[in-house]
Amino acid sequence: MLYNEPSPLEVRVLTRRFGLPNSASIDTYLATDGYKALEKAFDMTPDEIIEEVKTSNLRGRGGAGFPTGMKWGFVPRNSPKPKYIVVNGDESEPGTCKDRVLIENDPHQLIEGVLIAALAVGASRGWIYIRGEYRYLIEIMDKAIAEAYARGYLGKNILGRGFDFDLYTHTGAGAYECGEESALLESLEGKRGVPRIRPPFPAVSGAFQCPTILNNVETFSAVPAIIRDGGAAFAALGTPKNGGTRLFCLSGHVNKPGVYELPMGFNLLRMINEVGGGVRGGRALKAVIPGGSSCPILKAEECDLPMDYDSLAKAKSMLGSGGVVVMDETTDMVKAALRIMKFYQHESCGWCIPCREGTTWLKKLLTRMDEGRGSSNDIDLIADLAKNMLGRTFCPLGDAAALPTISIVEKFREEFEAKLAASRGQSKFVVV
Ligand code: SF4
Repeated sequence: MLYNEPSPLEVRVLTRRFGLPNSASIDTYLATDGYKALEKAFDMTPDEIIEEVKTSNLRGRGGAGFPTGMKWGFVPRNSPKPKYIVVNGDESEPGTCKDRVLIENDPHQLIEGVLIAALAVGASRGWIYIRGEYRYLIEIMDKAIAEAYARGYLGKNILGRGFDFDLYTHTGAGAYECGEESALLESLEGKRGVPRIRPPFPAVSGAFQCPTILNNVETFSAVPAIIRDGGAAFAALGTPKNGGTRLFCLSGHVNKPGVYELPMGFNLLRMINEVGGGVRGGRALKAVIPGGSSCPILKAEECDLPMDYDSLAKAKSMLGSGGVVVMDETTDMVKAALRIMKFYQHESCGWCIPCREGTTWLKKLLTRMDEGRGSSNDIDLIADLAKNMLGRTFCPLGDAAALPTISIVEKFREEFEAKLAASRGQSKFVVV
């Protein structure tokens, strides 16, 4: 179950079992150091586990990049309420497909990461929330969970250490919005998937109003390696404050698209040229979306940079969910902006006006610009409308729709002007 040939430049920590026969089975997992980190964690105190995760400089792989150890430290362990673990497997960001391969190829690594997190905060129950379109992954995950129960890694008195933990899968209905953590919790509780007002944050009041650790599939999957090899070893793979490796989903106009595990801070141009085999057809690079469609776009001349959270922030973009979308010189940037906006307009949950109306109007404006019906005011109107959405919506989807639009208009304004000029020429021709 391998999606692409590995690259010799990869550093395979989370993906090290990919390609092994029956890599998803518990026998393969146990034969390759599986559940050894859990055994080690049983001999550590909760504080020692959290300290090790802090030392690793692991940051949330879902998109926000919040330090994982710090997040776990926010859970009030003396709370009388039960504590829960929730795995965000609602992978929906366009350009991103890494959680899918992690679950498909190594589901026990995820279960072990969840169990270590449960030990760290004293949780008794957990859910793996998987997006509706990934329904086939539920079967893989359910099979792995059944194997773990059968071998004593889940359930009562795990490994005879007096620790109980139950784990379930839960499927979403295919809404992008449910990847936002508080909307995911609403959906998990059987309600409409719209965001909650925060604070309180999930660490204090999450699933069923109980303290909850909520992290992405890739984040939990990194935890066994951190405990097994030590947080310092994991941190050393990346750059300062950006520990470990990252699964980058390389797609678009490259010769070898795929999911590649590379050290944090790997150079973006090298990723395209040396890992991805270069731009298809030998064409010139035009632009890259570095971390999923919600990130501001980078022009080709901005792409010689390390892929970590801080370097991307300095370049006024984001590492996001690791979805690297490559665009060659033939890409129509107005069409690209429209395609992105169609997605966000469709996925807006409608809860707040700036997002619901803003995405609808942006789609209309970009459509008429693309179809040659734009007016000379439209370019500034698109940019203004998008800027007025920033920071004014209830959840990050509003920003996710606005940011790529603003960056495309600012960096490729000449393409919008060329469309307008062409449409004026075309209409004159039609009139004549
Ligand atoms: Fe819903 Fe969009 Fe508002 Fe988020 S920003 S709550 S998706 S309408």
